[in-house]
Amino acid sequence: MGHLPATPSGASTAGAVASASHPPEAIVIGSGFGGLAAAVRLGARGWRVTVLEKLDAPGGRAYVHRQDGFTFDAGPTVITAPFLFEELWSLCGRTMADDVELRPVSPFYRIRFDDGTSFDYSGDAEAMRAEVARLAPDDVAGYERFLKASEAIYKVGFEELGHVPFDTWTDMARALPQLMRLEGYRTVYSLACKHVRDARLRVVLTFQSLLVGGNPFATTSVYCLIAFLERRWGVHFAMGGTGSLVNGLVSLIEGQGGRVLCNQTVAEITAKNGAATGVRLANGETLHADIVVSNADSASTYRNLVAPEHRKRWTDRRIEKARYSMSLFVWYFGTRRQYPDVAHHTIALGPRYRGLLTDIFERKHLAEDFSLYLHRPTATDPSLAPPGCDAFYVLSPVPHLQSGTDWALQAEPY
Ligand SMILES: Cc1cc2nc3c(=O)[nH]c(=O)nc-3n(C[C@H](O)[C@H](O)[C@H](O)COP(=O)(O)OP(=O)(O)OC[C@H]3O[C@@H](n4cnc5c(N)ncnc54)[C@H](O)[C@@H]3O)c2cc1C
Repeated sequence: MGHLPATPSGASTAGAVASASHPPEAIVIGSGFGGLAAAVRLGARGWRVTVLEKLDAPGGRAYVHRQDGFTFDAGPTVITAPFLFEELWSLCGRTMADDVELRPVSPFYRIRFDDGTSFDYSGDAEAMRAEVARLAPDDVAGYERFLKASEAIYKVGFEELGHVPFDTWTDMARALPQLMRLEGYRTVYSLACKHVRDARLRVVLTFQSLLVGGNPFATTSVYCLIAFLERRWGVHFAMGGTGSLVNGLVSLIEGQGGRVLCNQTVAEITAKNGAATGVRLANGETLHADIVVSNADSASTYRNLVAPEHRKRWTDRRIEKARYSMSLFVWYFGTRRQYPDVAHHTIALGPRYRGLLTDIFERKHLAEDFSLYLHRPTATDPSLAPPGCDAFYVLSPVPHLQSGTDWALQAEPY
């Protein structure tokens, strides 16, 4: 998410303008979680906020599909930091639990290996030790060391640095000594290898970075903090589906006097003297704002919404050269019967791990084999399907669109 401040210093401006007699106007482009959260924060500081969403409903990647009595969350389903949502409610003087129920999910994930064995990954220390002992008895002590390392990284990487924008080299230089001490120069996979030997356990401890789009063989071990984050806060599911969180955030914004307008495509962020002045919509209408926040993907924001003369740093060339994460192929389906033996979150691993991830991230090649994430939300909330039925989605990480995969042709056979 990026923003073009009305003056060069966005954050301090937000407070200063908000104290003027007329509430200052903010436009947020996009109603994904990032845009909705930004809108709530601006609203809490006294800005009058308009969120403009090009789709017909809010949520972005957390859009909700409904068909034949089934409810399918399009994207996010695993909530690992509930306090970040609770904070948004408390900024509005409200309590999240009054609007949305987050229910703990256990096990967090059932991981099924290609050899037919499985591992129940949970937040229960005893149960986890027993699972590790069952899978790889010699690795129990190493697993404990890995978890300690994860906790140390969490304390620095999440609690201390989680809010620091690494915009400049000096920001990075300041954090470097701590990150070096925590072996942040290692990859996620390399840190797991330092502590455990079993190949399956190495997968169990490293696939989490894929949840945030990071290849465990290339991403800094800072992302190992996810193991402790999950242990500390649990894995939750929003009853009614992730869409209920989206609806809750929209109601917060409306309660602040803000608006969330759908079917509104922003064609350009208008700017003058290096500062945003508002937006021009695809239908030609222009809207003034004192600040514009873009929740659209940053590459698309700079390339498509900001004229080249207003972006010296983010040139088309630089955007083209940037490295992008994987894509996800997601298939939503409902069943006429229920599958109570299928956990809420299942990771079904194929025969290859490193090889498959190399195909996806480096070779950008759509492989014949795959590893899948299977979501059965009706395991926790049966109301998401008609009685006696289950709702599912199955997700496969695939190379991103620069791979040239023609999904119009490939989707059905895949
Ligand atoms: C299948 C899938 C599963 C996932 N699972 C999880 C999970 O379990 N847990 C988790 O934490 N994360 C998960 N993620 C990641 C998570 O969904 C995203 O990180 C998050 O939703 C992104 O939110 P965002 O606000 O940054 O962007 P987005 O949700 O992409 O929102 C951007 C919005 O901007 C709108 N927009 C773009 N351009 C314009 C324009 N010109 N005019 C108007 N509107 C515009 C888009 O329509 C969109 O609504 C998953 C992602 C996917 C795809």
